[in-house]
Amino acid sequence: MAKTIQAIRGMNDCLPTNTPLWQKLESTVKHVLSAYGYSEIRMPIVEMTHLFSRAIGEVTDVVEKEMYTFEDRNGDSLTLRPEGTAGCVRAGIENGLLYNQEQRLWYMGPMFRHERPQKGRYRQFHQVGVEVFGLNGPDVDAEMIMMTARMWRELGIEKHVRLELNSIGSLEARANYRDALVAYLEQHEDVLDEDCKRRMYTNPLRVLDTKNPEIQKILVDAPKLSDYLDEESQQHFAGLCELLDAAGIEYQVNERLVRGLDYYNRTVFEWITESLGAQGTVCGGGRYDGLVEQLGGKPAPAVGFAMGLERLVLLLETLKLDEVRRTVDVYMVTAGEGTMMAGMKLAEQLREDVPGLRVMSHFGGGNFKKQFKRADKVGAAVALVLGENEVADNTVVLKDLTGGEQTTIAQSEVAAQLKELI
Ligand code: ATP
Ligand code: MG
Repeated sequence: MAKTIQAIRGMNDCLPTNTPLWQKLESTVKHVLSAYGYSEIRMPIVEMTHLFSRAIGEVTDVVEKEMYTFEDRNGDSLTLRPEGTAGCVRAGIENGLLYNQEQRLWYMGPMFRHERPQKGRYRQFHQVGVEVFGLNGPDVDAEMIMMTARMWRELGIEKHVRLELNSIGSLEARANYRDALVAYLEQHEDVLDEDCKRRMYTNPLRVLDTKNPEIQKILVDAPKLSDYLDEESQQHFAGLCELLDAAGIEYQVNERLVRGLDYYNRTVFEWITESLGAQGTVCGGGRYDGLVEQLGGKPAPAVGFAMGLERLVLLLETLKLDEVRRTVDVYMVTAGEGTMMAGMKLAEQLREDVPGLRVMSHFGGGNFKKQFKRADKVGAAVALVLGENEVADNTVVLKDLTGGEQTTIAQSEVAAQLKELI
């Protein structure tokens, strides 16, 4: 027998049992985005390598260690996109979308990073990214956060995620802070691990989000970024907090939140869940007012975020939100002479009467027990049962599979009952 070929490590199939959850997530997110007037943009999955090294920064984890880079047949260095912002900005500049204009954009698709695969961390993963160009106030930052909060509510996970917020100020403010931080870290060099020692000079702010508890201890007394913030960034941040307070959105200011990519300034935020272990950030974003210019466009303020769909799917699975997993609302069970035809007829009628209702008919015979087992397997909320007696007097047995109640009702009343139940 030939040796079977397997998928690439960290790149997963999405199987039919799981696609309903993905579809639910994707459609909810799209629906919320459209409710705020955002438009979809689609970019290629491959870009020139130097787009990413220039946008993300040479000394970031992504560019140093995680990119899938290869030479194509022309000898050009290309890279599978590790994130969407760089490509979105490139597309915006190239197509004249950003100069003197407002754009509210989103995209959805696979990203590629060569990381160590583990729960919530893969080599091909999927993001929904949102980017707004041409607006520099805290109002749009606040709207983005409110929009994500609405997504969590619509998905039913709002109690399982929390918001962390920070301002990392202007480029100059960060440069001043950087000097103070490096001076402090130099005094504690003996405690630093290899990673932090390396970062101390290449990208010292990244030391702040170390997971090493010993280093975290010495960071307690490190200089604070907030003491170095420029006046305008302070005002921007205060404005954002005020808007979030008014919208009733809870947040924690986390002074150590700096985020991994170089291009951020001012607002940075993350939505975090405690339900997934170490890979708990489901969404992260912030302002990147300098990036458009850095990539060759006319200066344009920008803010955006990206959410990791695998982590959200894992969260939905962990919380076992049955209703989200459900692909069938009603399972039609029939047994006895002439009942199959009656069942199909009733199913057709219900599809007419209850828009969006998902009805699956049982085929292939078998006793009630076997049929109910199938109904459970597909996760139906309700079974409708037609035996010879029911067909004879135009009734049907309605069994609530979530609560177990069972009643016999007239066929003409089923649609109304289902509308209430589902
Ligand atoms: P992390 O700190 O978990 O590595 P990150 O800061 O590298 O995340 P971003 O570049 O901000 O992540 O990407 C936004 C979101 O995309 C993350 O919050 C996460 O939900 C998701 N994500 C990032 N990398 C991966 C990955 N390798 N596998 C699955 N999801 C990912
Ligand atoms: Mg990462």
